[in-house]
Amino acid sequence: MSDFMQRGLDKVQGVTEVEEAVIDGIDVSGYWSRMLEERTTLDFPTDALDWITGLAGGESLRDCYQCGKCIPVCPIQHVGDYGPWKLFRKVQRGNDLMADPDLWLCTTCANCLRVCPKQVNLLEIMPALREQAILQGSMPDELGEVFANLQKKGNPQGESPRKRANWATDAGVDVPIISELGRKVDVLLYVSDYTSYHPRGNDAARAMARVLTTLGVDWAILGKEEKSDGDSARVAGERGLFEMLAEQNIETLSKYEFDKLVVMDPHAYNAFKNHYPALGGTYDVMHYTQFLAPLVDRMEFKDRVELSTTFHDPCYLGRHNDEYDAPRKLLEAIPGVELIEMPHYKKNGYCCGGGGGGMWMDSVVDPHVSERLSERRVREAVDTGAGTLAVCCPYEPSRFEDAVKSTGHEGQLDVRDIIELLDRAMHPTHYNTSEAEAE
Ligand code: SF4
Ligand code: SF4
Repeated sequence: MSDFMQRGLDKVQGVTEVEEAVIDGIDVSGYWSRMLEERTTLDFPTDALDWITGLAGGESLRDCYQCGKCIPVCPIQHVGDYGPWKLFRKVQRGNDLMADPDLWLCTTCANCLRVCPKQVNLLEIMPALREQAILQGSMPDELGEVFANLQKKGNPQGESPRKRANWATDAGVDVPIISELGRKVDVLLYVSDYTSYHPRGNDAARAMARVLTTLGVDWAILGKEEKSDGDSARVAGERGLFEMLAEQNIETLSKYEFDKLVVMDPHAYNAFKNHYPALGGTYDVMHYTQFLAPLVDRMEFKDRVELSTTFHDPCYLGRHNDEYDAPRKLLEAIPGVELIEMPHYKKNGYCCGGGGGGMWMDSVVDPHVSERLSERRVREAVDTGAGTLAVCCPYEPSRFEDAVKSTGHEGQLDVRDIIELLDRAMHPTHYNTSEAEAE
């Protein structure tokens, strides 16, 4: 043994070594037979860890063995100081996280779960902890306002339910409402909150209406009967509110006959696919990119778009539901589109910061990060040299367009939903007319 090793060993209490030992013909004498006395390595109070792991959903935190693999993949760590291992260390030191801002930073993006060898599951731990914080009256005001809007109006923005289908007026095609049709349809389109109410979401809704109509799809929407899917409220800690919204949507959907439920929002897709069945609502549900991708051969493109485009994988379509190909198939079908991937893509895609209630908590998160996740993602998109950032989640156009401005890249990167790019290539005259009218 080297002097260095011996010096280290001298400081350790309770070391035993067998001077001469051979086991199965292998010489394990001296250093090689070294044994240490069993020592206590956890001198921390375990109350906080016991409390959290006793919550339904909190159990897996106990399995963290502190390998640290989750830290470099956590997007918040890239702009701050965060990750499941760091949360575990805080809990291990006796912090129950109830008054800790860290409770609200996780976007439930699932990148840590992808690499964790022990399946420590923040997608269950965070909602369980946040639910407790809400019960104790300790939640950000911003979130309280959104929950109140969802409760009263059925959407996070607090808009009138009667205006939910106002976007349809300017679609340029007939947008059928299923209650008015009074018959079964092939496709019921769940439009979702931001597609229904946000001006940039409206652009995607109208583009979808035109594309479905041109493809000859038999489709309709729920109109003012549609309510928020509630998935982001669930992961933000309001499971009761999620269940209330889900039950209302399930009751509404039960009144109508349709073959497929096609949704514009990956968060809604996640809710309908993975969480509504337990509440009695089972549907043949598809994200709109999954529905349209097999139909590309039927799409007649009248214009070349001539765009170098990069694509942002939404966490709730990609990592949460393993769909990476459908959006790319649509983009690659558009004549003139060149797809350039960012370094973080597909399974290792980088979060926009809108998941897990992050859509409503930028002001809560901002003091704890050097820049917003959307800003970091925009920088990555700009670095590819692409002129367009294609998206397919209604949270993203507004988040990324704000980030394009705040990072000083205005005029350099155009943010477009894939459905807008498809629509432009299929219906160029619609855009030429709109642009001429705007001038
Ligand atoms: S990857 Fe999993 S086990 Fe390793 S430190 Fe992170 S949470 Fe703990
Ligand atoms: S889910 Fe995403 S944001 Fe949350 S801790 Fe894991 S990697 Fe970080």
